[in-house]
Amino acid sequence: MALLQGPVYEAYRTELLKRYKHLLRSLGKNIPKEKIKLVRDAFDMAARAHEGTVRKSGEPYIFHPLAVAEAAVSELGLGATSVVCALLHDVVEDTDITLEDIEHRFGKDVANIIDGLTKISTVFENVDKDHSIQAENFKKMLLTLGDDLRVILIKLCDRLHNMRTLGSVSENTKLKIASETLFIYAPLAHRLGLNAVKTEMEDLSLKFTNPTLYREISDKLADTKNVRQRYVKEFIDPLKNELELSGLNIVEIKGRPKSIYSIVKKMEKQQIPFEEVYDAFAIRVIVDSPLFLEKADCWRVYSIISDMYRSHTNRLRDWLSHPKSNGYSALHTTVLGPKGRWVEVQIRSKRMDDIAERGLAAHWRYKSGGKSVSTPQDMAFDNWLDAVKETLSNSDLSALDLVSEFRTSLLGEEIYIFTPRGDVKALPAGSTALDFAFAIHTELGKRTLGAKVNNKLVSIQSSLKNGDIVEILTTSKNRVTRDWLDVAKTARAKSKIREALKAERTKKAAQGRLILERLFRKHQLQFTDSNIKKLMHHFKYQVGAEFFHSVAEGQIRLNRELLLKIVLKKTVEPNDQAETLPTKANSTATNKRKKSDQIIIGDDYEMPYALSKCCHPVPGDPIFGFITVGEGVKIHRTTCPNATRLMSQYGYRIIPAQWRGDGYQKAFDTAIAVRGIDDVGIVSRITDIISKDMEVNMKSINISSNEDGTFGGKIEVMIYDLLHLEQLIAKIKATHKYIEVMRED
Ligand code: MN
Repeated sequence: MALLQGPVYEAYRTELLKRYKHLLRSLGKNIPKEKIKLVRDAFDMAARAHEGTVRKSGEPYIFHPLAVAEAAVSELGLGATSVVCALLHDVVEDTDITLEDIEHRFGKDVANIIDGLTKISTVFENVDKDHSIQAENFKKMLLTLGDDLRVILIKLCDRLHNMRTLGSVSENTKLKIASETLFIYAPLAHRLGLNAVKTEMEDLSLKFTNPTLYREISDKLADTKNVRQRYVKEFIDPLKNELELSGLNIVEIKGRPKSIYSIVKKMEKQQIPFEEVYDAFAIRVIVDSPLFLEKADCWRVYSIISDMYRSHTNRLRDWLSHPKSNGYSALHTTVLGPKGRWVEVQIRSKRMDDIAERGLAAHWRYKSGGKSVSTPQDMAFDNWLDAVKETLSNSDLSALDLVSEFRTSLLGEEIYIFTPRGDVKALPAGSTALDFAFAIHTELGKRTLGAKVNNKLVSIQSSLKNGDIVEILTTSKNRVTRDWLDVAKTARAKSKIREALKAERTKKAAQGRLILERLFRKHQLQFTDSNIKKLMHHFKYQVGAEFFHSVAEGQIRLNRELLLKIVLKKTVEPNDQAETLPTKANSTATNKRKKSDQIIIGDDYEMPYALSKCCHPVPGDPIFGFITVGEGVKIHRTTCPNATRLMSQYGYRIIPAQWRGDGYQKAFDTAIAVRGIDDVGIVSRITDIISKDMEVNMKSINISSNEDGTFGGKIEVMIYDLLHLEQLIAKIKATHKYIEVMRED
């Protein structure tokens, strides 16, 4: 506390006030008085709370939050509320001040942001080498993307200042913080469109993780500076004249060296020395135009440049019409400059440049007044943020998977894919047709059969190229399989597929349970937990849901003998059946049962009936009887398309009916529908399964190819019961990836 007076303390107070005044100047003049009062209070609170503490560098601690606030204003363009939060960002964690104190003085918004910042800041200090803890922490940070975006923006300023002052910490901490920054903060900054922040973070990370290489490249850049500047002048001078004559309001035209980090990446990727990185700089032309003219003006600049220098036909990037989803918008072209060198030229408006450097989020949402102009850039960014929030909220991925998937989506280049109607979706490069389907709509994605890319039929795993026109071919049914997790490349599609698989498993398990229950009933066994346990034990299953799932998938084969052996622990001779299992029905009937014994109508075992032709019921189907005029009782499936009508109009003629549930000798005819993408030999493969593998008789088969490359048709088969039918369907489905099989209604 000796610091609280004397000349040293005086000097500190003077410096502190100087920096605080600078912050106020950066905030600008248009800030309302009440807001300035809040900033003042936050500054006082922080200064008092941190008083007496110093950073590793020996600097008073309060200079850190001040610097973070300064960066939030002058580098990201954030407003007064963010300044308040930046000033207070470390007090809850490091001092006696509580969140309640903050809410009491500054309100709910500020308290929420500080809360978010406190939660992610505890993160990195306690991390050792355990990757899963690390990932858990990164996940925590990504989750704040779903809250107030200012949390992450201020966090980025915090990290930026920590990186700028990293020199004074221990070697170990340096490495840890620098690699974290490269791993997650720089990609995040990139994705949020904060180009300047991203570039500085990357360069600083390199500086601390590989100081030798960093110094080597920065020295070489300095050595070649004069040569480069002379070349740039040679390139620009004639251009300047032309642009001036055009009447366009050009605010900047100059050569900019690329970042050290990006030069190093290029050298590594192309395995070339520094001297061969020909595009170590780019020419940037910035034109000041009103919003409605900016695109047209950029194209005029392009036209003037390409009149003077031959442009590379394959190197025109039009992010004017379709901004990147981080909000980046510009026109990039590569032209043949003096001395036969290819030079990249970036053309953009002043507004686009501002967004490119400081980020869209800062630009449009938190600018004072907060009124937003809706540009395609805003929308692209909004869409991205919505997709992020959705992925994060639905994801039950492990933290490690989430972070690595997310990171891929943060870093990658984007491609633009069109629907046949001309709508456009931005996807990460490497995305497949399946990703595109899920990007359009989850329900569409789940039913994807294949796609047409530029009118050519392709499978779901074919990767898309920039500008492709893609039409998704679907079926009426959910087709999600586990393989799709490899086919999909985007985090969004993957998380949707995982969700669908989970739902499907639950449904399948319920089906399996039902199949098993029927089988038990058929053999007069008690469907109890302990009997199920015996089966699970026999087939080596621990989890009920998994066991039922396998039953439904037909992976568990249970015939009568095996079932009785496991459940009753006794061996049954196949020809013993009738005696071992006397049933009410069996005791009065012979094995060669007539058709009329198979269904009990009401509680009458003898009533004659006929199976309806419209829905082909088979044993196991839920059924009902309908009393017809003159034809006796007709049996329909409860899911028969006619059932609803019959039940609603002639309710009094409906009578309950049920299968007897044992030893059906007779096969029932029913029909299945198949659809899919055409493939040589598919029909013979299907018929092989039916007649050879399953030994099922076919009554008829009718399959035809369609012009769009799909096929479809109907097969009438003779099967014994529902289980039998389900097994057949599962087998046919397994023949081909792009086939859909269902029972015909
Ligand atoms: Mn901090």
